[in-house]
Amino acid sequence: MHEYHNFINGRFVESPNCDRIEVTNPSTGRAICSVPESTASDLEAALDAAVAAQPGWARKPAVERGNALRALAAKIRRNVEPLARVITEEQGKILPLARVEVAFTADYLDYMAEWARRIEGEIIESDRPGETILLFRQPIGVIGGILPWNFPFFLIARKAAPALVTGNTIVIKPSEETPHNAVKFCELAIEAGLPPGLINVVHGRGPSVGRALASSPRAGMISFTGSVETGAAVMAAAAPNITKVNLELGGKAPAIVMADADIGLAVQAVKSSRVINSGQVCNCAERVYVQRKVADEFVGKLAAAMQNTRFGDPLADESVEYGPLINEAGFRKVSGLVERAAAAGAVVVTGGRRAPLEGGYYYEPTVLAGVRQEMEIIHREIFGPVAPVVTFEDLDEAIAYANDSDYGLTSSIYTRDLNVALRACQEIRFGETYINRENFEAMQGFHAGWRKSGIGGADGKHGLYEYTQTHMVYIQRT
Ligand code: NAD
Repeated sequence: MHEYHNFINGRFVESPNCDRIEVTNPSTGRAICSVPESTASDLEAALDAAVAAQPGWARKPAVERGNALRALAAKIRRNVEPLARVITEEQGKILPLARVEVAFTADYLDYMAEWARRIEGEIIESDRPGETILLFRQPIGVIGGILPWNFPFFLIARKAAPALVTGNTIVIKPSEETPHNAVKFCELAIEAGLPPGLINVVHGRGPSVGRALASSPRAGMISFTGSVETGAAVMAAAAPNITKVNLELGGKAPAIVMADADIGLAVQAVKSSRVINSGQVCNCAERVYVQRKVADEFVGKLAAAMQNTRFGDPLADESVEYGPLINEAGFRKVSGLVERAAAAGAVVVTGGRRAPLEGGYYYEPTVLAGVRQEMEIIHREIFGPVAPVVTFEDLDEAIAYANDSDYGLTSSIYTRDLNVALRACQEIRFGETYINRENFEAMQGFHAGWRKSGIGGADGKHGLYEYTQTHMVYIQRT
């Protein structure tokens, strides 16, 4: 079994005295490789490298920084297939989705590189004669990036690309579930000639290495993607140093299906939300509200579509639509939520159990009808191939149900009525709303959750500027 190492100052560094974390393939339960459970001194070495490299990097013209991202994107594009296989093996997503993740990562690096020539300050009118007021955007310094496992390769770029193009350096802690793809990312960074110290990767578990990174006074911002509970722990760890946090947290996206909707389109979009990455995606529809008049038709068609979904080991069979859940804890969460919903009166229309497949944690595609708004399954993130369906009478009720959530990441509505769509846009209190299409954000948008779904956001111009701080300069002519 291969032993991988931390990536510090442009090279892989052994941590001889560390315990090791074994990484397993969730489709089979078999061990793949191991990474170190890094120590405090490993993390300090990574921070040393990032701190030392940052001023020189920030002094380079932004376009040079962008070119470094482009070189990395080109290397990634030449390695889509092997990278996709690494992601699928450790995370369990199907190969076509892993290929999309890799290609999207390369595009994202190129997209952020384009911003190099567009980072702009401001000139502001002064109240004083002969004075010029300037607003500069400057790098924050060293960014700490803490990642989840569900889109692990892309999330490295989602944090590193805006950090680097704006003149920061970064120390990343990948999820302990999916560290292998981060090793591959670093290998390509070396091949692409990325200067040492810009990207550093330190492996380990959350409560040790993650917490130490979040509480380091040397990190200027912690960019975290993960669950609400861990996001709160990251905020608490960052608080004593008043370190800025950028938090991309969980979601519980409502999908509203009006009676006038294209039902076939809504069924396909909801199904795709619940099976993509085995339902383990923050932005996907997690609760479905259907207008009573079309509820039976919708539930029947959704159940048929879910029943026809092929799932299994994505490396053994490329035709499957989804693979296993990430681990036993994820499996217990999904099955517990479904069991308690059924006990509270929900009807299991299809699925509702562990699939009889050897090796991994496979859950059957599941549709629950007769779900009520107050049930736990409507309020907690499921992260599995399960669609709970609630019926509503009118738009007022649907909007009230949708907004009744601690989460506020994404939402969607299916209707042919422009007035209904517009009212939903104005009254649904979420960071993103998709109208008549499946949930998936664009890199030029701004992915930012309301309420407990996060603080700040990622992507586009607004995501880029999260990685800068302003510097006001007042110049008095004498
Ligand atoms: P998680 O919160 O369990 O772990 C995320 C990361 O935090 C891991 O690297 C983990 O090691 C680390 N961590 C754990 N405890 C820590 C601590 N005390 N201090 C610092 N770091 C710690 O999340 P997960 O299970 O890996 O990912 C799934 C979650 O991520 C879901 O809730 C999902 O909705 C969310 N997510 C959100 C977005 C978004 O863009 N909003 C994107 C992807 C995933």
